[in-house]
Amino acid sequence: MKTQTRSIARITTLLVGAMTIIVSILVPAGYFLVSYQYMMGSLDTQAESSAQAITRLVMANPDMWRYEEVRLMEQLERRTTIDIPEARRIIGLHGQIIAESSAPLTPPVISRRHYIYDAGSPVAQIEITRSLDHLLRETIFVACGALLVGGVGYVVMRRLPLRAIQQTHQSLEESETRYRSLFESMKEGMALHRIIYDTEGKPVSFEVVEINPSCELILDLKRKSVIGMSGNEFFKGALMDYFSEIVHSAETGESLVFELQGQEKRRYFTVSIFSPDKGKFVTLIEDITERKKSDEQIQLLAYYDNLTGLPNRTLFLDRLNHALAGAVRYGGNLALLYLDLDGFKDINDTLGHAQGDLFLTMVSQRFLGCLRRSDTLARLGGDEFIVLISYTGEERNAAHLAQHLLEEIAPSFEISGREVYTTASIGISIYPDDGRDADTLLRCADMAMYAAKGAGRNGYYFYSQEMNRKAHERMELETSLRHALEREEFFLEFQPIINASRNCLVGAEALVRWQDPDLGTVMPDTFIHVAENSGLVIPLGEWVLRKACEKITQWREAGLPPVTISINVSGRQFEQRSFTDAVHDILEETGADARYIQLELTETSLMRNADTTVCALHKLKELDLRIVVDDFGTGYSSLGYLKNFPIDRIKIDRSFVMDIDQSQDDRSIVEAIIAMANKLNLQVVAEGVETTVQRDFLLNLGCQEMQGFLFHRPLSEDKFIALLRDIQLCSASFS
Ligand code: C2E
Ligand code: CA
Ligand code: CA
Repeated sequence: MKTQTRSIARITTLLVGAMTIIVSILVPAGYFLVSYQYMMGSLDTQAESSAQAITRLVMANPDMWRYEEVRLMEQLERRTTIDIPEARRIIGLHGQIIAESSAPLTPPVISRRHYIYDAGSPVAQIEITRSLDHLLRETIFVACGALLVGGVGYVVMRRLPLRAIQQTHQSLEESETRYRSLFESMKEGMALHRIIYDTEGKPVSFEVVEINPSCELILDLKRKSVIGMSGNEFFKGALMDYFSEIVHSAETGESLVFELQGQEKRRYFTVSIFSPDKGKFVTLIEDITERKKSDEQIQLLAYYDNLTGLPNRTLFLDRLNHALAGAVRYGGNLALLYLDLDGFKDINDTLGHAQGDLFLTMVSQRFLGCLRRSDTLARLGGDEFIVLISYTGEERNAAHLAQHLLEEIAPSFEISGREVYTTASIGISIYPDDGRDADTLLRCADMAMYAAKGAGRNGYYFYSQEMNRKAHERMELETSLRHALEREEFFLEFQPIINASRNCLVGAEALVRWQDPDLGTVMPDTFIHVAENSGLVIPLGEWVLRKACEKITQWREAGLPPVTISINVSGRQFEQRSFTDAVHDILEETGADARYIQLELTETSLMRNADTTVCALHKLKELDLRIVVDDFGTGYSSLGYLKNFPIDRIKIDRSFVMDIDQSQDDRSIVEAIIAMANKLNLQVVAEGVETTVQRDFLLNLGCQEMQGFLFHRPLSEDKFIALLRDIQLCSASFS
């Protein structure tokens, strides 16, 4: 700034100096020239008028005028300006002086001449001479005046712009101080950055040039350590996420505002970006944590129940509507569980409101423990809660959840040293079965809840009667199944597998049965799917596997011929990561020879997760077990995967065998399966062979191993042992 001012001052001095010089020279010179011209003019006029007067004298006395000395002198001395000394002469044509009126003249002088005529012919000249001394003196005087004026002008003019510059300078300084103090006292954090470009001129990052004290506070870092910081470090690199927008804003001058969340202590900021200069930008960081918190507080009050912290009715309806929109678009089911505590009024009356509130909070906590993150539990008011779950297919069972919720609140609550018990009545409505909008679904769930209360409380009720019946049956079955597992009310039957052309025993399939004290023998078709849905199939499957292995060992020890046993493995069971380990452990515990065990897995369960399947199958093969694809043809029928899986056999599903003598289609399918199996070097078994016609068809198509009522029904252990003693085993049994 100072050097700028200095150079401006120098230029001003030069300009003003030049002007002063010009003024001091031009004014007196002009004055001189004008006065000189004027003087010449006036000399001319005087000479002319004197010449005329003398001409008249000449004409009056043409011969003797030269001697009329007095009159000539009189003419010479008649003048308009007496104060200016002049010399006047009448000069003859030959240069002789005829008359002269002279005054002493200081040189330099100027003179003018004019002819005197007599009858048109010049006879003499009149000459008037004046001294320039007076004019010169006047000019000097004027020059002095001009110099003085110029000098004063110089001083004044030179000062003026300087003062203006100084004033601007001063006001700039003042505003800079003002800005600096504003910058420093600002509540918002402010930082100036320089954009860093790579060698190709591409912006790659930025660095911090300056920050204000508020920015130090926000970053919790000292100014010194922040200055020079790179974009990746500043604000923990958060601004780099917006880098391209920032560069755009810096280039176009468009301002940019965005919100950031600081990692620590949940802090929120708005960041405004503007660019004061090319290649630079300023961030204005405003801490809006408090505002956010109060917004959240307001949200909390508006959408959450302030006793339990659960969503309130408003938020619940919002979520329900969202879920409904999602279900309409992407399919899937929703279930609403309307929960009402039984006898809460009594609890409230005995314990008082404060304890009643505490109790409700504890209940809501237990409910929450039963739910997934994607479920919504809301408090509708009083002791009424509602749960929203979404699920696809059979995957999620509302009845299960209801049961779970009831079990969860069954144990006592401890309130002020007292044990308090409660139960609940739950009403369930299902989208889309019971309704397609929030109102209807809520109403149905509410009505179902009253039905549950009417049915004796501590239970759940579906709005739909059909679903109600099914759900209760299923739940009952599940409960009995659980007890059956605890009491080991299961046993195995063995259905022989025969080589139909050689008429020898290939092996047997172990089939589970449930011996219920009330229902008698229950077949797996009735309970396996319930076991699968509830996960009970996992312990059940393990039980079957262990039992079958025990039998293999027992029979071997009893000296019976070694026979291969086929064991069904459910998809749920096989999906368990620990499945192969469980098989390994059971083999060790029972001492069964793995070479005589064959696992039956359905196509669907093999295909569910092809990658892990390959891995698990290889592990099983390492244990020396055989693998059969059960119900072949009913699943994906993707033949390609068979190549990738280490499989030994495929079992053609009963549905193809059933109509083999009537349906050409089924025959073609079976034929194709057999052809493919031969190609892949796999054995084929046909199940469900009931007639000799079916058997012959299969034999004709090249399938020899068969299982079905035609040969044997599933046999009790005793009967199977008897058969083992009797029948001949095929020599290469299950290789
Ligand atoms: P699956 O694996 O297809 O078993 C064959 C079923 O067909 C058996 O029914 C058997 O009794 C029946 N069957 C055999 N020959 C004939 C026939 O000629 N005609 C007719 N109509 N049926 C025949 P079961 O024992 O009722 O088993 C039904 C299903 O239950 C089995 O089908 C299997 O999927 C499952 N299952 C049985 N035991 C177990 C087990 O221990 N674990 C698992 N996970 N599932 C099992
Ligand atoms: Ca089977
Ligand atoms: Ca089967």
